[in-house]
Amino acid sequence: MSANVWQVNYGISPSIVERVTNLDRFISWNEHLDRFSRSLEYLLVRARDIAERADSYRGFKVGCAMYAFRRYPENRELLGTRWKIFCGYNTKPTEDSLKICSEHRALADARQAGYTLIVGMALVGSPQPDDAGILHPTLHPCQVCVNMFRKAPEVKGRTAIVTAHLEENGVMDYFPFSRLNRGF
Ligand SMILES: [Zn+2]
Repeated sequence: MSANVWQVNYGISPSIVERVTNLDRFISWNEHLDRFSRSLEYLLVRARDIAERADSYRGFKVGCAMYAFRRYPENRELLGTRWKIFCGYNTKPTEDSLKICSEHRALADARQAGYTLIVGMALVGSPQPDDAGILHPTLHPCQVCVNMFRKAPEVKGRTAIVTAHLEENGVMDYFPFSRLNRGF
């Protein structure tokens, strides 16, 4: 079937065919964000689901779902996995035990799987005052995580952060990581 017939019948144009068959094409940030936006509803569902696995001595639950990207690997059998979701929950089982944030788990999993870019993330939890004592309408990443993100090559200033509550109540915040990274 010629490209023209596809275009007429299915809205698929030669430029789209070229786009989807060129595995190494340049992917713009707009495309990343567009894909992230389309996945956001699902990311929030995944973040809320995994928050239930939190293990916190004070019942503090956080869930994170990161939307990660990697280029096609040399091994083409791994096709179809360029954008993938990685999730994490928080743990601090006892007051004197190590705190591991949900963002830390999600980022570590993405890195271990060879993903090189975090396009964005959904973060859900109950609001609590941040390290500066400011209570935001939604839970923001803690200072430890902000420091981790600053050093992580996968996280960019424009990596999108969407924060929401554990329950679906319409309260959300949306900002690029650069907004948390001010002052450094
Ligand atoms: Zn944290």
